[in-house]
Amino acid sequence: MAAFHVLLPAGAAARPEITRIRAENVAILIFDRTLSGSALNRLRCFAESTGRLRAFHREAGICELAEPEVPDPDFLARMRLWPGVLRVLSEGDPFPRGTSARASFEIEIPGGGGLRFGAGAFVWIAGPCAVEDAGVLERTARACASAGASMLRGGAFKPRTSPYAFQGLGRSGLDLLAAAAKAHGLALVTEVLDPRDVELVASKSSMLQIGSRSMQNFPLLREVGASGKPVLLKRGGAATLEEFLGAAEYLLEAGADRVALCERGVRSFEPSLRNLLDLAAVPALKARSSLPVVVDPSHGTGNRSFVPPMAKAAVAAGADAVMTEVHPDPSTARSDGSQALRCEDLPPLSRVLRRLAEFEGREWQEPFRDGGREGAPAERPFSAAALPESWILPEAERP
Ligand code: PEP
Ligand code: MN
Repeated sequence: MAAFHVLLPAGAAARPEITRIRAENVAILIFDRTLSGSALNRLRCFAESTGRLRAFHREAGICELAEPEVPDPDFLARMRLWPGVLRVLSEGDPFPRGTSARASFEIEIPGGGGLRFGAGAFVWIAGPCAVEDAGVLERTARACASAGASMLRGGAFKPRTSPYAFQGLGRSGLDLLAAAAKAHGLALVTEVLDPRDVELVASKSSMLQIGSRSMQNFPLLREVGASGKPVLLKRGGAATLEEFLGAAEYLLEAGADRVALCERGVRSFEPSLRNLLDLAAVPALKARSSLPVVVDPSHGTGNRSFVPPMAKAAVAAGADAVMTEVHPDPSTARSDGSQALRCEDLPPLSRVLRRLAEFEGREWQEPFRDGGREGAPAERPFSAAALPESWILPEAERP
């Protein structure tokens, strides 16, 4: 096998100019350098037991493994799920950016402050399907914030099956969303449907949502990626995980460095559920990529009664965030009323999600004010300074 270039994760702070390294016949495993001695030993023993261990750079948080002659995705997937392993970089990986992208990042809140996504943080995103009017939005946002959600969701530009159905309030809906998020100290995620609206939606929100129907709208992915905003990418209703990861790769390739994947159900043969919520996608995506994974049980089931159990299951499956739709009076909602939680459903759901998240070792995220927050879980970048010199690309070859 020839030498190849590996894209390094963002955050290689010690040598920021190095974005790629050259490696030859190796898979590179990046692990948390602050793991306890016994956890490091277990990792090392596991690596040895594969018969492929070449070197264990404990200080650098890097382990070199011989690449198998024939690409072996199961082997790489097992390594990725090992506790403390942050990334596995391999020549055979078709999505090099998805496996080396940031596993955790901060997003900004309109009006100041931020929120952490991924790497042990747990975020609850809640809000209406669509912005309908200022009063309904205000009641919804207030209920979400007081129940402990840290991020408001809601559509101003709605992708609807029928062109005659309510399409959202557009620009004025965005203004209402931004004002509600600011008033309640929440981050804001909202969908952008049209590449021509990216700048506008980016200027009003914390995170851009790419809806299920747009997952493979490649010009939109490129435009959103180039905006540099955090992105919530929803899985297409009939997309394989390979196609989903390919779409994320478009965003990363175009310049996004804060991308979260959102499982929201896929079409199945069962008519009584809106979609089939694929919770196995959570560990499966985590085995293939370093990106945080969000689960949306509202679109995933289409039925408000099924949202709390599936939200709980999502936390247990390893989701970094859960997104739920809410409406003060779902019977009057202009879209997706049947799957909207009522405001009074939020506090009990919050209590149980919080306990489950803590049980799973996740830290429930409350928005923090400017200046960061003591104790916020942060990704620990590995030290590129400790990389073997032979891996460093000569300056002339650097992109
Ligand atoms: C939404 O979250 O507003 C939405 C339209 O969902 P999806 O794209 O998953 O259908
Ligand atoms: Mn909806």
